[in-house]
Amino acid sequence: MIIVREVAQLRQAIAERRQLGTNRAKAEYGSAAIQQHTVGFVPTMGYLHEGHASLMQKARELSDTVVLSIFVNPIQFGPNEDLDSYPRDEARDLEVARREGVDIVFLPTVAEMYPQPTRTKIHVSALTERLCGASRPGHFDGVTTVVAKLFNMVNPDLAFFGMKDAQQVAVLQQMVTDLNMNVTIVPCPIVREADGLALSSRNVYLSAEQREQALVLSQSLRKVREVSEDAVQNSFTIGQIHQMVESTITSSPLADIDYIEILTFPGLEPILAEQRLSDVQEDIIVALAVKFGNTRLIDNIRLQKAEVLSHV
Ligand code: AMP
Repeated sequence: MIIVREVAQLRQAIAERRQLGTNRAKAEYGSAAIQQHTVGFVPTMGYLHEGHASLMQKARELSDTVVLSIFVNPIQFGPNEDLDSYPRDEARDLEVARREGVDIVFLPTVAEMYPQPTRTKIHVSALTERLCGASRPGHFDGVTTVVAKLFNMVNPDLAFFGMKDAQQVAVLQQMVTDLNMNVTIVPCPIVREADGLALSSRNVYLSAEQREQALVLSQSLRKVREVSEDAVQNSFTIGQIHQMVESTITSSPLADIDYIEILTFPGLEPILAEQRLSDVQEDIIVALAVKFGNTRLIDNIRLQKAEVLSHV
């Protein structure tokens, strides 16, 4: 596994891997059959867990070269957020990367990523105005800007992102399409603890009591899944489902709700509260952000239109 901290080294390491792949294909199949060498990219902020590992596994499965980046990106944090306390453990992260068969790890410093004040930002409109975009002003501009920079450095064919951050997937897909970026976004399913809590680097902030009560997030979403699969209950309206999720979450005294929203996916358009779940003609996302003390957790469930039994 190659570990690099500078952009120039990263570019060189990737170029060598691409060259290697092409040469091998030429030797095996002759120059008429140069097979494409596929680079898969997994951007992260480190403190790696099984959710991150699942992205690396998918990347390993689909790519010749797997590139992992670990960078806690300051420009996606608000002034009162957890940039300084964000958990970090480089040695452990490198062990996880090695175990998952990553080829190249990019570990830049802030000075390497932002050698001068950035005057260029990427802003995706509309999709960034709701959910976490509303609660965390400027957050998605920070995300799209750093991901665009990383894409320009790595030049990946495939880039892997978790549906844990579903809005991020929608926003990045829009950016890639709007700007004709030559990369395919591969969304990957949410990885959960055995008891349902979605894995997150921020879970380490939770006290034992908060950790216990945080289960209301996944429990409320599991109820939504059950309703969607039930031929009678899926005549519930969006408003009723919202109510059901809210009452599950408020059953936890420590939960402080930031938002509960039911939107179309990936368009992130609101759905009328009176509309029956079974009558919605698009995929739906039920997305939550809930604070436990200073720790803000997010979770979501996506209901694909085909999975919702139609109401008869
Ligand atoms: P982060 O390090 O939190 O920025 O996350 C890096 C990538 O890992 C993002 O694409 C996240 O959506 C993804 N990710 C984080 N937690 C999970 C999870 N529990 N399941 C699947 N993907 C995840």
